[in-house]
Amino acid sequence: MALDRFGRDIHYLRISLTDHCNLRCVYCMPEDMTFRPNKEMMQDDELLLLVRLFTSLGFDKLRLTGGEPTVRAGIVDLVREISRTPGVRHLTMTTNGVLLGKLARPLKEAGLQRVNISLDTLDPAKFKRLTRWGSFDQVWEGIRAAEEARLAPVKLNAVVVRGYNEADVVDLARLTLEHPWQMRYIEMMPFAGATELQQTQVVRAAEMIERIEAALGPLELLNEGELDGEARLFRLPGGVGTLGFISSVSLPFCATCTRARLTADGKLRLCLLREKEVDLLKPLRAGASLEDLRKLILDGVWYKPWGHGLQEGKFALNRVMSEIGG
Ligand code: SAM
Ligand code: SF4
Repeated sequence: MALDRFGRDIHYLRISLTDHCNLRCVYCMPEDMTFRPNKEMMQDDELLLLVRLFTSLGFDKLRLTGGEPTVRAGIVDLVREISRTPGVRHLTMTTNGVLLGKLARPLKEAGLQRVNISLDTLDPAKFKRLTRWGSFDQVWEGIRAAEEARLAPVKLNAVVVRGYNEADVVDLARLTLEHPWQMRYIEMMPFAGATELQQTQVVRAAEMIERIEAALGPLELLNEGELDGEARLFRLPGGVGTLGFISSVSLPFCATCTRARLTADGKLRLCLLREKEVDLLKPLRAGASLEDLRKLILDGVWYKPWGHGLQEGKFALNRVMSEIGG
């Protein structure tokens, strides 16, 4: 078991499989983003070795993310190997959905259990403006393919950005009247890369809820307000799906955080919003023993920061979001 000094049991690892992406969302990275050379990135054998180390320390919940995880070469085989690793109980992926039309079924067969798909609006023109390169129809097809492949329950993630999609929270919420999906709204957070927009155009969860209730009626709070992961859950009157609000900025959930992140270049990142990282890939390549690597992980986890400093105006600007994995 990997405990931190505050007694939190850290057992959820989010792994960034690549910093590359086939979209350029305005809240995530600049359009002219430059990527790290492949030799600086974890290769399959290195990644699988680290996964085995983490699971041997009690990490049982893995989420594959990026950049865009589906653009990694050999993604289906990699998922198959990860899913077979002893100790992996939950294996999920966060994806922009662009390639799910063809990959949903093979990924499910390889052992992926669920997907979170990013969808910020149902309006194709706004979708293009937010993602710069994306096609709404392609992602919609990806969502349907995920459902057909039973990568379920499907969860959709929307980052809400003032001036882009703050009014679209209502149409997105309507999806849960017909579909058993979880529509999750994310408050935008600041990283390097698009920092000005990320700081000035934040829409708080309270405003999103107000907009939805004004249009569709009062939301019913679920789980007595207990967080489901990082999301506070609600249901629309008559809804078959749920709405989740991830209020990292206005209502942090640091006290119940159980997660750590592994960046695509093999660094253990202890908090999404703090710069502290522990390099695992360099020692691995320098011949560190498994015991040494285990110790590096346990020490890193022990000193996991208590929480982020957004409310004091402290930002982690050493990386863009796509390098860390959301
Ligand atoms: N490419 C995949 C995708 O978009 O779903 C996975 C990686 S993406 C970095 C992971 C999640 O982070 C997505 O749901 C995305 O919307 C979210 N995200 C990106 N930039 C963000 C920001 N500045 N603040 C909050 N969430 C952000
Ligand atoms: Fe790519 Fe995901 Fe970042 Fe959008 S949010 S640019 S899809 S990594």
